[in-house]
Amino acid sequence: SVVTRFAPSPTGYLHVGGARTALYSWLVAKAHGGKFVLRIEDTDRERSTQAAIDAIFDGMQWLGLNWDEQPVYQTHRFPRYQQFVEQLLAEDKAYKCYCSTERLEKMREEQMARGEKPRYDGHCRDNPDAGGDSYVVRFRNPEQGSVVFNDHIRGRIEFANSELDDLIICRSDGTPTYNFCVVIDDWEMGITHVVRGEDHINNTPRQINILQALAAPVPEYAHVSMILGDDGKKLSKRHGAVSVTQYRDDGYLPQAVLNYLVRLGWSHGDQEVFSREEMVRLFKLEDVNKAASAFNTDKLNWLNQHYMKTLPADEVGQALQAQFDALGVDTQQGPACADIVKIQAERVKTLKEMAQLSQYFYQDYEQFDETAAKKHLRPVAKAPLQTVAKRLAALEEWQADSIQQAIQASADELDVGMGKVGMPLRVAVTGGGNSPSLDVTLALLTPTQVQQRIERALA
Ligand code: GLU
Repeated sequence: SVVTRFAPSPTGYLHVGGARTALYSWLVAKAHGGKFVLRIEDTDRERSTQAAIDAIFDGMQWLGLNWDEQPVYQTHRFPRYQQFVEQLLAEDKAYKCYCSTERLEKMREEQMARGEKPRYDGHCRDNPDAGGDSYVVRFRNPEQGSVVFNDHIRGRIEFANSELDDLIICRSDGTPTYNFCVVIDDWEMGITHVVRGEDHINNTPRQINILQALAAPVPEYAHVSMILGDDGKKLSKRHGAVSVTQYRDDGYLPQAVLNYLVRLGWSHGDQEVFSREEMVRLFKLEDVNKAASAFNTDKLNWLNQHYMKTLPADEVGQALQAQFDALGVDTQQGPACADIVKIQAERVKTLKEMAQLSQYFYQDYEQFDETAAKKHLRPVAKAPLQTVAKRLAALEEWQADSIQQAIQASADELDVGMGKVGMPLRVAVTGGGNSPSLDVTLALLTPTQVQQRIERALA
């Protein structure tokens, strides 16, 4: 049965590229009713941190990329890797290399001077008695033939063994190297499909050779292309948020980000919106683009708005609540966040923006928007505001349609257009000239709040 994995190095947050790789890997597992496991590649102890591990878990959970089983930590498995180093040595599939740094340095310089690609010259390969103070262990890579694999995204890939030198699998301090750990882990975790970034393509033939030396099965491979910013450069902080949880903080829904990520390099006809179930059903590695994908914030915004409008308002409301919390707005008194979602989702791109533009539902605004106040309040608004205040005060039912009638009747009474009443009222109640339709906006406030704010505007 299918087992896929996501194997982040915990040296930073979960970035967009990593999250997409994780999603694709997760989808392959789900599509086959298989397992998706997490491996923390923390062997670089200098750069790996617990904070980064937590950030990766947090990002994956937020996206709903749930993993099976306990995560595997490479640093917990050093004795296991060591056993396999010993085994390969005993079988003469690996050997001790005593070459000094000076010798290797000189070798490299000479190779480069000759215009060759630097590679280990095999000095200790057939010289078991070389001896010396310290040694590394090198894998005895086959000298003949080539390594071929069928990449699910990129097709047939072939590397000549003559291109690959004898890889160090264990350093002189006894610690295993990265490529070796990956091989042992993929094998022992029963990984059937390796989905990872294209920056690992060059590791794949080396890993396959080691797997074969261990008589381990070789998994399937899929190497996903890079993500570029909209300027064609490698995606980085310059392009805005690159950490997945930053999108949460910026007011994006996980459904939107997940949908955005799946489309970043994969398509199914011209469909843009995919539920999780549809992704699982329709996604195929073979349909993933070989070319790099360009990040497109407009599309992410479009998807975010789509999900703000179509997901259950209660669910979106919870995410909006988090944005109010971040702003320090107390929402205990006032409308349910879900009701704000219903009237604002059309009007904004993110929940952060929605919260910023909806504070007047919970607290008095600090000051009027100057431009709006100049235009709509002073000095023209006195009669419209007094008239509409009187009519609103007389309402028996505080509902959108009765509020609407009161505004209309005020305009009729004064013999002016609706806007001549509506705009002053809007600025009076919300502090600015930009809000959802007044009837639904006022209906979410109390009659008292509305009267007090009109008085304030008249003062
Ligand atoms: N730890 C590697 C990375 O973060 C992934 C290695 C792999 O998937 O094989 O790039």
